[in-house]
Amino acid sequence: MFETTIAGSLPKPDWLAEPEKLWPQWKQAGDSLRQAKADATMLWIKAQEDAGLDIIGDGEQARQHFVHGFLEQVEGIDFENKVKMGIRNNRYDAMVPQVVAKLRLKGRVHAMEAQLLRAHTKKKTKFTLPGPMTIVDTVADRFYGEGKEGRIQMAMAFAELLNQEALALQADGIDIIQFDEPAFNVYMEDAADWGVKALERAALGLTCTTAVHICYGYGIQANVDWKNTLGHEWRQYEKVFPALAKSSIQQVSLECFHSHVPMDLIALLKGKDVMVGVIDVASDVIETPEEVADTIGKALQFVSKDRLFPCTNCGMAPMDRETAQAKLKALVAGSALAIERLAQH
Ligand code: ZN
Repeated sequence: MFETTIAGSLPKPDWLAEPEKLWPQWKQAGDSLRQAKADATMLWIKAQEDAGLDIIGDGEQARQHFVHGFLEQVEGIDFENKVKMGIRNNRYDAMVPQVVAKLRLKGRVHAMEAQLLRAHTKKKTKFTLPGPMTIVDTVADRFYGEGKEGRIQMAMAFAELLNQEALALQADGIDIIQFDEPAFNVYMEDAADWGVKALERAALGLTCTTAVHICYGYGIQANVDWKNTLGHEWRQYEKVFPALAKSSIQQVSLECFHSHVPMDLIALLKGKDVMVGVIDVASDVIETPEEVADTIGKALQFVSKDRLFPCTNCGMAPMDRETAQAKLKALVAGSALAIERLAQH
């Protein structure tokens, strides 16, 4: 009951990359970089275990950014000539690589981290990949063509590549494969129309647990400003949850603590495991166990206790390292308190 897990990313140590940045520059190169990525992965496996998490990830230490880390291993993408593009419906600008030819994987993308993770914890493991729709929103296209048809075609092409890597991660012994789809909260109609289908293509043939993470983004200023425009009730999930409920994906995350998402939207996810966001990644204030347990208590009105997974609202990549570590502990302490409270009733 209440198996604790995180959305995925954790801060990179400052000897690996520039700290507290979403697109940090690496501080090493060549073999030193490879070794530093592996060391940072080990460090966070240990930190998650010490904090008492039930499901352990690699902390996304080996990728510069959750989308571009995957794209770097894709043929047909020009990384030399990045262009500035407004992403997430122009919420903020990013320097993105361009799709210039037919897409193909150069080889394994995450073998090193996944195998390290599997070898160094006996707990359940989770590995994250970007979802096809979010990839399409984080890359410039010079090949598939303008308009909706081009976007769908490109998403399906990426979905096939994601599927290849996901099957390999499963073979590495990963227990849960999660696709990150923040774009589902931005393009709600497209998400319900074709985003979920592309996601299912990416998960095709997987026999391990499958998950999707949908959020309101990292705790960066552009996202905080955007959230302030969304009003007092955030109903974005309402459009895509019914499509996800009908899909083959088994676990769905949602942002709960300090969000304006009505808790009753969880009821739309009947039959799914629900990762309930009980940790705010946009604030450096450490949640108290009571706050975490309260959020779990509210979610329990709409999801059964065996299907509730306490989680962070989003990734913690741009956060200060010590804050992230304290938040991992808060997540576990709050979940333990929630169990205690249940036992008393
Ligand atoms: Zn997120």
